[in-house]
Amino acid sequence: DEVRDLGEDIDLDPTERHSIEVYVDRLKHKEGIRGRVADSIETAAELSGGLVRILPLDGEALEFSQHYAELEHGLTYPEITPSLFSFNSPEGACPRCGGLGRRRVVDPARLVPDEGKPLRDAIAPWVGGLRGGGRAALGKTLARVAKALGVSLTTPWRELPAEARVTLMEGSGEPAVAEARFEGARPWVERRIAEAEAKAERRAEDDDAPAGLEELLAYTEERTCDACEGQRLRLEARMVRVGG
Ligand SMILES: [Zn+2]
Repeated sequence: DEVRDLGEDIDLDPTERHSIEVYVDRLKHKEGIRGRVADSIETAAELSGGLVRILPLDGEALEFSQHYAELEHGLTYPEITPSLFSFNSPEGACPRCGGLGRRRVVDPARLVPDEGKPLRDAIAPWVGGLRGGGRAALGKTLARVAKALGVSLTTPWRELPAEARVTLMEGSGEPAVAEARFEGARPWVERRIAEAEAKAERRAEDDDAPAGLEELLAYTEERTCDACEGQRLRLEARMVRVGG
């Protein structure tokens, strides 16, 4: 560390990273000093863009930020307002679950309710005859993927290699698996639910629910949101502690 006077010419090596601090004021604690402390902190914050460090003669340096930053981790916080602490406000709600504390997830065990069934009939949403589900096309896709994975459509689900089951469930972005990207059963159900819900929102309230939505929702279950652990608030709000 080096202390330089601003009256000097200062050359900085542009290839190196520098941390530049400006020494603003030196104060002795006594009565009637508040105004000057406030002025000095304001000056320091203006020069630095919001970061102020106070060095007591004894004890550790105190750091302050106008941006509600976690200084050690470089995380900048949103402005701390009452709405940050409300899961009913967009500022405060956990972005993952929308402030509900619970999330609907597709349950793999429901997608394959009977592991003894042959692959051809194992994945329930692709067998159950969803209206408009394009069952014939799905059957062709399944045959193509099974061939690429080197498994038979007549093999019971539980006897398939683990890797094949993961690919069937989660899909594959690699064309090598099936000549084209293959959407697994879980993302397939998620997409169909999102599509059905978007469609339902566009319809008048007295209309029937779109075909298939109820059937699709049967493959899901509600779980505690893993992002907020059910607390409904966004991470930043949960990290703020008032009075320790
Ligand atoms: Zn959440």
